[in-house]
Amino acid sequence: MPAIERLADDLVLIDTGYCRTPAAIGVYLLLGERPALVETGPDSTVEVVLEGVRAAGLDPSDLRAVAVTHIHLDHAGAAGALLRRLPHLDVYVHPLGAPHLVDPSRLITSARRLYGDDLDTLLGEPEPVPAGQVQLLEDGAQVMLGSRRLRSLDTPGHARHHLALLDESSGDLFTGDAAGICLPGSRYLLPPTPPPELDVPTWDATLARLRALRPRRLLLTHFGPHTWCDELLAQMQQRLPAALGLVRSALDSGLDEEAIVERLRAAGASAAEVDGPDAAGRMEIVMPSRLNALGLIRYIRTASR
Ligand SMILES: [Zn+2]
Repeated sequence: MPAIERLADDLVLIDTGYCRTPAAIGVYLLLGERPALVETGPDSTVEVVLEGVRAAGLDPSDLRAVAVTHIHLDHAGAAGALLRRLPHLDVYVHPLGAPHLVDPSRLITSARRLYGDDLDTLLGEPEPVPAGQVQLLEDGAQVMLGSRRLRSLDTPGHARHHLALLDESSGDLFTGDAAGICLPGSRYLLPPTPPPELDVPTWDATLARLRALRPRRLLLTHFGPHTWCDELLAQMQQRLPAALGLVRSALDSGLDEEAIVERLRAAGASAAEVDGPDAAGRMEIVMPSRLNALGLIRYIRTASR
């Protein structure tokens, strides 16, 4: 039985149980006239998500839509597998992400480069989503999910094709990765900075935009609800340039890739210590330091060209 948490009468958080780690990757179920998921989790946990939908009292065949904040495999990797089971679902995505849902071959190639054979046991390979089911969400577009009218916000930085979804009436904001990674109950933020689309100043502008909207609750994919919204977003605005500075100075002093990964891992582990002895390990499962380091290195090298 997957862990589910009811966050409101019409909102349920499903824990995908990714890597047998609680609170690593979440999927939100919106109930109401148009039952829908926000995020799908990776391909590897699709059955857990469907079990979670049932545990919340909904027959999965009653789902009508899925919206993904971006197409990274931990957020949207199960979209194709869901559509194979439930071909009527509409899939909402940022216009720049849509082609990769329809043809995930480039996503798979780049994930293979990063994860090697571990890809199959960790995330799994995404299946294609039929083009006819894909709906584009431009900045400002409204979409009905569950019984809520959500507004799509173009929120680049972590990736160019990232969107967030704001429910203006409740103040709930589905942040995807735009607000970083924060374990439930924690006050420590880790910026996920994998390659290849990381853009630090653009992300900072996104964080400023989200702060200005004054959300009342942030719903993170990694993980769960957080109500210290402005402080959380402000901390991200500090953590991001700090991580960039660490990697930049390591590059300047001639460290090789492995040494930079270690330095970033050590800095993250000591910052995460406030959340207990296993916090750094859990963060590492959600977002390996190696990927964060590679994304920052790539960003520095391409930005300086
Ligand atoms: Zn991501």
